[in-house]
Amino acid sequence: MTDLARCIADRGLRHLLFSFTDLFGVQRAKLVPAAAVAELAASGAGFAGFAAWLDLTPADPDVLALPDPASLMVLPWQPDVGWVATNLVVEGVPLEQAPRRVLQQQLAQAEALGYSFRSGVEPEFFLLDPLDGGVADPLDRQSKPCYDQLALMRRYPLINELITAMQELGWGPYQADHEDANGQFELNWTYAAALTTADRHAFFKVMAASLAEKHGCGVSFDPKPIAWLTGNGAHLHLSLWQGNRNLFHDPAGEKGLSKLAYQFLGGLLAHAPALCALTNPVPASYRRLARSSTHSGATWSPAWISYGGNNRTHMVRIPDSQRLELRLPDGAANPYLLQAAVLAAGLDGIERNLDPGPRSDANTDTDPPAPGSSRCLPTSLEEALEAFGADAILQARLGEPFCRAYQALVARHPGRLAAGG
Ligand code: GLU
Ligand code: MG
Repeated sequence: MTDLARCIADRGLRHLLFSFTDLFGVQRAKLVPAAAVAELAASGAGFAGFAAWLDLTPADPDVLALPDPASLMVLPWQPDVGWVATNLVVEGVPLEQAPRRVLQQQLAQAEALGYSFRSGVEPEFFLLDPLDGGVADPLDRQSKPCYDQLALMRRYPLINELITAMQELGWGPYQADHEDANGQFELNWTYAAALTTADRHAFFKVMAASLAEKHGCGVSFDPKPIAWLTGNGAHLHLSLWQGNRNLFHDPAGEKGLSKLAYQFLGGLLAHAPALCALTNPVPASYRRLARSSTHSGATWSPAWISYGGNNRTHMVRIPDSQRLELRLPDGAANPYLLQAAVLAAGLDGIERNLDPGPRSDANTDTDPPAPGSSRCLPTSLEEALEAFGADAILQARLGEPFCRAYQALVARHPGRLAAGG
């Protein structure tokens, strides 16, 4: 019996979802009965590649999904079913454009240099009326709704179930709040190794949608579900480690961060326009990033390629002396590609010793950078894709098979919908 089969027998699971996330962030799965798990864990569960967003054709051989036992999670709302992330292979060879593979390859490059990448993600979401698509709670009407205690507690049954689920899963949830748009919430759990965070991010989207449905709501991670409200960010907190030592921390450095952290930051700034193709991957992403006005008075999303201290108007914030916060990504970002692209950009910053330049302490909402002092972020997906196509360094780091597949797929489906799950 394999480890996985033994593990699910021990936990009394009836079925296992063999799951993968495709290039547009859609999660696909097969439900495998416990009795068949040992066999399918060895052979892989078969998928027709063209049926998912993988840039394959109906003529291509089966994609086989091989479970990663370390990713096993029991569905807290359906405790006889487990979920495992899978690695995709075709005829015995890893499918290079599979998002989890793209992230694993970047992590391997970091490991080869002696760095392990740790991250935390903040996936904001709206609770919407499943019928009319408006804010689900008709009483949630404040013009500055952030941290609204009453609106938060009216959602207590759902929020409590989500927090309890994360506790059962061992993610270390530590806070939940109402965010700055009516109907918008955020739940935070503890940062971890990047692959673990990516698997949890993927799983969280499914879990939030499943539990919200049970409570009569729809969930939206769309970057800008409602034009006059703040959009959905998916901020990423980043650090590189060696064993238990945080290599981003240096008490003697500016804001307590090391030279390595600033080099990584230099890479994020240098590759920002191209990064947007993956951190902000749908047309609606640019309605969030644009310098639009919102009812609350702020979008809280960046418009410029800049960094600041503990200042939420910049693309990168330095919240404390342990990490960087990238505020660029939105709710449509693929959990795996997001982190792969960010790590690729950061590693380039380290390798080429890129200088991020001086920090800006300006409020860029009211005091935008002087012309020529900072570049503006792309204002459309087309612009971001063009920058991605032109960024030979990022492309080389992410690998030709992935870049080719992704660009071909986007070219064929430019107006694709934001992926909710
Ligand atoms: N919702 C904002 C965004 O789109 C972020 C708000 C916050 O700082 O939490 O990025
Ligand atoms: Mg937030």
